[in-house]
Amino acid sequence: MEFSFRTRNQWLQELAQKELDILVIGGGITGAGIAREAALRGYAVALVEKHDFGSGTSSRSSKLVHGGFRYMAQWHFGLVHEALVERYHLMQLAPHLVHPQSFLLPIYRNQLVSPWLIHLGLFLYDWLTFGKNIGRHQMLTVDRIAKEVPLLRRENLQKAALYMDARVDDFRLVLATIKAAVFQGAIAVNYVEARQLERKESPFLVQLKDRLTGEKITVRTRAIANASGPWCDAVLQQFTGHPRRHVRPTKGVHLLLHQDRFPIRHAITLFNRRDGRPIFAIPFSPFVVLGTTDTDFNTTPEQVSTHAADVKYLLQVFNDYFPDVQLQSTDIISTYAGVRPLIYEQNKKASEVSREHQIFQSPPGLFSIIGGKLTTYRVMAQDMVALLGKFLRQRYGVRGRADDLSLQIPLWGGRIAHWEEFYRQYQQIMVQEGFSPEAAHHLLTSYGSDVVEVLQVIRQTADGANRIHPELPYLWGEIDYHLHQEMALRVEDFLVRRLHIYSLDAQQGKGVLPALIQRIAAQLGWHPHQQQRETERYLEKIHRDNQWRQVSI
Ligand code: FAD
Repeated sequence: MEFSFRTRNQWLQELAQKELDILVIGGGITGAGIAREAALRGYAVALVEKHDFGSGTSSRSSKLVHGGFRYMAQWHFGLVHEALVERYHLMQLAPHLVHPQSFLLPIYRNQLVSPWLIHLGLFLYDWLTFGKNIGRHQMLTVDRIAKEVPLLRRENLQKAALYMDARVDDFRLVLATIKAAVFQGAIAVNYVEARQLERKESPFLVQLKDRLTGEKITVRTRAIANASGPWCDAVLQQFTGHPRRHVRPTKGVHLLLHQDRFPIRHAITLFNRRDGRPIFAIPFSPFVVLGTTDTDFNTTPEQVSTHAADVKYLLQVFNDYFPDVQLQSTDIISTYAGVRPLIYEQNKKASEVSREHQIFQSPPGLFSIIGGKLTTYRVMAQDMVALLGKFLRQRYGVRGRADDLSLQIPLWGGRIAHWEEFYRQYQQIMVQEGFSPEAAHHLLTSYGSDVVEVLQVIRQTADGANRIHPELPYLWGEIDYHLHQEMALRVEDFLVRRLHIYSLDAQQGKGVLPALIQRIAAQLGWHPHQQQRETERYLEKIHRDNQWRQVSI
């Protein structure tokens, strides 16, 4: 399925002429889910994203598809149950992206919670899956803990709980959902911003701006789904002129380290001894992701960045539990920061704010959604489309399909009956064909059943199967696939999100930049000055994201 700059141009022309049922604003996981659900129900739907798909919060999460064990302590059993069931569903809908992950939670004598309380909590956590469990928890003795995590602080260590959750490539989940929506008939374009309402009642006239050309387009739509996450209040103010606070934005920072520096088999949940907040160390072989912080954030989400204080906080918690590892800021390869679009609730600490979602409507036909989690996005989308559907039915007599297909039709790349078998067969074929086991693993866990198309593209050029970076498993042919089948348009789209070169390479991709730009330029027709601009834009990003290193920690 072509999903490229060409498709984008064609769709932008179509948008100017079409009357939509639903215009979705925001191409994060929430907007992606809504577009898919609306398309599955047969509505005329288009999604616009002002930057790249998933570039907001949805590619900056802890990358967990989880029930959220810590919410048990806040008695949010409904939310935990919903998330655990969704965890199971997502593992069926995208088995290539969502993988079981074991978590080890150490329990110390001087902690507020005792082993038996954690044991009881995890018993409930397992039980709340209502038969959709992915493995039961165990309680480990100190000897066993020493075998599983030899470097963990032993002093006062009583026990540890080993339980199961799941991890995901968050950006790829967004893209797999968007491509699934497109396959069902949705339009989805990146670098298109919804600017203002030229007509403020349904049917709305929404002014869009193509951020690549500056061109303005007016689209007519019966209803709007504002899924702009942390930008929700800003979009509403632009549209209605009324400043109102619905969102409580909080910042979360993650650090990336090489596993050589800190080898772990299980993810580890550590509670900060000072404020009681959980910090995760998650193995994304051969790297470890460490995070996250949760602090109020009051500037525009575009400006979110890591500060030295965030790094210091995370390193302190970690080093407290792993005194013999003693991580330094120089061990950090890269960091990322994101903004949670939480529901605004007065007088609550950032980490206490509910992770539930909320939908509101004002004026009639303009619906906004905030809160929620990556894990529960399918349920959020169903709630939103049910309300949109009711509006369209009552106001226009437009009826969507009644049958619920969102659990029957997999996400893009998810057409796989048995993941292990699929993986084993393809891995073998690819290794026989000359791919390294790491490259085969990367291709299978990124593209799933779409790997067949990816391989075709890789084989089309002489250098398609060559590595882009000597230490990372990514291949040049993937860049061509991203151009033609993933609507990648800017250097950042390739290096930061579709591949993780930006996060995993100590040079953050600087070394591959000239060759990459040449390859993209040849296909997108970039002039030398455009190539120069793209290079500068990317180098500026590296500079901005590393400013925290100027402050000593
Ligand atoms: P976003 O992903 O921010 O998407 C909104 C999009 O709207 C943006 O891409 C933006 O560019 C676009 N936009 C804004 N204005 C306009 C406009 N005018 N026109 C067009 N487009 C516009 N959840 C989990 O389930 N598991 C986790 O492990 C987890 N970890 C997290 C860790 C951190 C640090 C954070 C911050 C969140 C975490 N979450 C997690 C929560 C989850 O990531 C978010 O709830 C989710 O990604 C929000 O998605 P969204 O689509 O609502 O927002």
